[in-house]
Amino acid sequence: MQTHHPIFRKFMLILFPLILIFCMSIIYNKMHRRKMLIEQKISQFEINDKDVERLIDQYLTQIVEDVKVIRDAKDMNLYLNHKTAEQRHQLIQLFIRILHNKKNYVQMRYIDVHGQEIIQVNNNTDGISIVPQNQLQNKANRYYFQNSIHLKHDEIYVSPLDLNIENHQEVPYQPILRFITPLFDADHRLQGVFVINYSAKEFIWLTHQELFSQGKIPYQFYILNKEGQFIHHPQKKLRFSFQFPETAHLSLQKTQPFLWSDMLKHHFRGNMLKDHCLYSYYDVLAKYRTKNKVYQERWILLHKVDFSQFLSWRSLLNDISLTGHCFVLVVLLLLSLLLAYILEKLMFTDTQLEITSKIADSTNDAVVITDKDTQITYINRAYEKITGYGREEVLGKKTACFKSGKQSPDFYKNMWAAIKNKGHWNGILWGKKKDGLLCPKQLKIVALENKKTKKIEGYIGIFSEVSMNKMVSYFSAGCVHEKNNQDNRWGANDLLMRDLLSHSMEKASSRLIVIYLTVENFNRLLEVLDTDNQHLSQLFTRVIRTFIHGDDLIAQTGQNVFAIILHVSAVENIHVFVKNLHKTLGRVMMIDGKNLFFKMKMGVSHWPDEDNDIKNLLLNAMIALEWSSRHKQGEISFFEQKMAIELNNEDRIESLLHMAIENHELSMVYQPQVDIKTEKIVGMESLVRWHNPILGDVSPATFIPIAEKTQLIVEIGDWIIQRVCDDIAWIKKQQLGAFNLKCAINISAKQMLETGFTQKFLHYIDAGEIQSHEVEFEITETSLLEGDNHCIDLLKMIRDRGISVAVDDFGTGYSSLSYLHTLPIDKIKIDRSFIKDYPETDDGSLAKVLVDMSKILNKKVLTEGAENQVQIDYLRMLGCDYIQGFYYSQPLTLEAFVDYVKENKTAS
Ligand code: C2E
Ligand code: MG
Ligand code: MG
Repeated sequence: MQTHHPIFRKFMLILFPLILIFCMSIIYNKMHRRKMLIEQKISQFEINDKDVERLIDQYLTQIVEDVKVIRDAKDMNLYLNHKTAEQRHQLIQLFIRILHNKKNYVQMRYIDVHGQEIIQVNNNTDGISIVPQNQLQNKANRYYFQNSIHLKHDEIYVSPLDLNIENHQEVPYQPILRFITPLFDADHRLQGVFVINYSAKEFIWLTHQELFSQGKIPYQFYILNKEGQFIHHPQKKLRFSFQFPETAHLSLQKTQPFLWSDMLKHHFRGNMLKDHCLYSYYDVLAKYRTKNKVYQERWILLHKVDFSQFLSWRSLLNDISLTGHCFVLVVLLLLSLLLAYILEKLMFTDTQLEITSKIADSTNDAVVITDKDTQITYINRAYEKITGYGREEVLGKKTACFKSGKQSPDFYKNMWAAIKNKGHWNGILWGKKKDGLLCPKQLKIVALENKKTKKIEGYIGIFSEVSMNKMVSYFSAGCVHEKNNQDNRWGANDLLMRDLLSHSMEKASSRLIVIYLTVENFNRLLEVLDTDNQHLSQLFTRVIRTFIHGDDLIAQTGQNVFAIILHVSAVENIHVFVKNLHKTLGRVMMIDGKNLFFKMKMGVSHWPDEDNDIKNLLLNAMIALEWSSRHKQGEISFFEQKMAIELNNEDRIESLLHMAIENHELSMVYQPQVDIKTEKIVGMESLVRWHNPILGDVSPATFIPIAEKTQLIVEIGDWIIQRVCDDIAWIKKQQLGAFNLKCAINISAKQMLETGFTQKFLHYIDAGEIQSHEVEFEITETSLLEGDNHCIDLLKMIRDRGISVAVDDFGTGYSSLSYLHTLPIDKIKIDRSFIKDYPETDDGSLAKVLVDMSKILNKKVLTEGAENQVQIDYLRMLGCDYIQGFYYSQPLTLEAFVDYVKENKTAS
């Protein structure tokens, strides 16, 4: 399909209605003129008809007067009384004299009482002639004679207007009106009638002569008699049609009944509009008829004006004046063109703007548009969200106002040079948020060039935040340089951090501390505060900022990872300083109306220090953080060389762990759990063991966290559940009497969150024909705290199946009573750390708090790691329900465990 230029489309859209309006106005004008014309015609006809009526009256009065004069003339009376030849001659002479003067009197007659013509004088075009006596006829049968012979002395009869037809022929065409009056002698005896034939030719002509000459509109004129028959008709052959046998049936009543009925309705005076025709009818002498009895007859004048021609295309075209209308048309064309152009310009700018902001607002990347002088003209919502700046703070300002200043001047110089040469630049640099937090951002700047002038009219900047989480793990693996070469992006991040450090070093008067920290309960805080990453990061930054000063820097390098570069004085004890910082930052505080705390791990490196050289300050802080993250104990790690070595070791562990299942290196042991009151075995905890030919026995405390980091835990966890289910099934067959032991299985949160985990877990249990009360689900307090609602939903599902849930290592996390209360758990396992030093260096008060707390929550409580009688007694005194510790038994192989159970049974 052919597509038209948008201006052309708009031009057509504007022009079409304008032309339409123009045409409508011509038609309206025409219609209006038609209406005016009709009104004008009606009044014109009316005036004319009135004049005609007056003239006819004058004519008729004159004739009537003439009739009376002749009737009363001396010659007439002499003749009527004596009837001599001489007197007849005298009367004829009188007739001749009058006829000489009256051209329209075409005949004068005297007819005796028997209808016999006695005198007939004709007045034709040839002249006046007296009809010889032998040619005189008897008119006794004629209607006019019959209608007049019985009249009284002073009465006059006027015949209808018709043709004078003799022997069925009308020769010549002569419409006639007969004026007749009875004649009496001196003794009042009727002697006959006197007749004047009046030629109505002139009279008819008179009725419409004026109108013929007027107006361009075709116009037709009719005269009708009182029967609606045509006396005058535009078609000649229909004139007096009622007098000829072949056309006698034609009348207005027949040909236009609608008009006839309208005439009757309006007493023969009115107008009618039908089918673009105006009919105007007028009953002449109506007014005089009431005054003068002579006017018996009725003549209706009918005018017909056909306006259809007036509205035809032709007449419309005739109306259009070439110069005037063409000028208007040209003006309309030009106007449409101008409007289309303006509209297109306006709409284009509008839609462009709308599209730009729609696109910009639908992306999570920040978008900033500037003019050629880098003055900001537009920012999208993501920009406001990422930077914390509102529109009103940014618009109209130069982009330079918002730069972090953490890149060298050369960096910016190169950047602008690239934009100038290539039209764009793409890279990573530090962005600074409103609260001062530094964040690496991936920025793309595109110059907006005017295609025609080739001049730069503005710039668009698009950026997103870059997470540097990954950087931490490979830095710790000690292969930073290798990775840098492989992946420029991370290399760029590395450079960024180095930039930051070099900035700080410039100002470092004495000593520098680099702290990498992770907020471990970041996800949980997001949930509690019901907020997003941006907001939480801002909150956290705000808290940190109260502890740092001047040239110190905070940067966010990942979702929950922050880097702090601090300048400290020579006298400051760095360890004490960092511990205090950690303690203060980790205090419970009121945030957004809620009591919260940030649970953090920190990795610290400082300079000068014998373990650190300034070039590796950042890397070492990361290694220290990684160390902290991998080891449960210790929230702050100060970098030591051995950490790098051990973390490298962990990488070896990880690579060997991959083959552990395949090589059958994993096995399970079971540690009995004892009822503290009865000292009977109530259950056991399944614990995994790994023996590797190279590494020897590796503690689960070492390899499980590594497995958790690498997703290996899913595969290993699966193996464990299957194995434990098989073992329980086997134990149940070992004639232990009524089996009522509960076997706890450690489940890591990562394993649990794997899709389809619950179904798989329940499937293994069903497959081993294990009852729900024979297994227990063990999950650590920390993973519960770090997990989300989904984790809790899954636990609920497990519990709904009748499987109990125990919280492992209780006390090492920071669960509040109110939070624990909401968790779907049955048993609390207090961590070994709370009893191991009792009574030597620990007074057991924390263990007491934890037992009390469990009791408040109405949960069963088990203490792990009791190794001696003193500890057992103390725990019994606290009200602890179960013990799992070396005091009763170390973890045992399957067979050893069965023996232990048997022995315990016999012992009791
Ligand atoms: P846990 O689940 O808290 O297990 C208890 C740990 O305390 C076991 O260490 C056990 O041998 C030890 N223990 C119990 N009583 C005493 C005592 O009186 N004195 C001392 N010194 N230690 C005692 P183990 O077997 O080395 O396991 C360490 C951790 O590894 C476990 O802590 C658990 O978090 C994890 N783990 C062990 N087996 C599995 C498993 O099958 N799956 C998962 N996901 N994690 C496991
Ligand atoms: Mg456990
Ligand atoms: Mg434990």
